[in-house]
Amino acid sequence: MTVHPKLWALLKRWIHILDHTEFYAMWEQIKAKSPASFLQYMEMNWMHETELWSAIFRTERSIFQNSDTNMLVEAWHHLLKGKFMQGKRNCRMDHLIYTLVRQAMPHFIQRHFTQEHGFAGGDLEVQECLHIEELAEKITADDIEQSDDEENIFHIQSQTQKDLCYTVDLNAYDCDCLSFPKILMCKHLSHLVEPTS
Ligand SMILES: [Zn+2]
Repeated sequence: MTVHPKLWALLKRWIHILDHTEFYAMWEQIKAKSPASFLQYMEMNWMHETELWSAIFRTERSIFQNSDTNMLVEAWHHLLKGKFMQGKRNCRMDHLIYTLVRQAMPHFIQRHFTQEHGFAGGDLEVQECLHIEELAEKITADDIEQSDDEENIFHIQSQTQKDLCYTVDLNAYDCDCLSFPKILMCKHLSHLVEPTS
């Protein structure tokens, strides 16, 4: 991905395209830019089952359906099994429902309540998001420059190093700064998505 930055940028936009014609038009562009080995890899492994990954087929899905598996689901499974069901392997359905309604739900309601009122901190992701929003407020319009040739691409000057600039791509919804990969959000993207000044 670092050897072919243009190809990588195209690929990231490509998977989000919703329109059939646009999708295949960009595939032609990708083919033109790809080394033969990558092309062969794509054709052998991915192109015959585009319906499994391309956004042109994955429409009208909620944010929860889009995250088929993720660490949150695993964390929840761990909590349910280890804490609420005390590690029991089998459980009667009525007992499981009782556990969910009488123990798990009050647990989450209580947690949201305490977080909301500042008695307990948010989880790491929430904390990081709040921190990012705070930092995003320091970015001013003068720090931002829109790309001449591409819509939705912005260059934002670093707040700490004035000779440094980061590129935010609103199509791919990413930024090339060092903080971005941590929770797939950073102050630059946050500032453009939810402008504060
Ligand atoms: Zn950034």
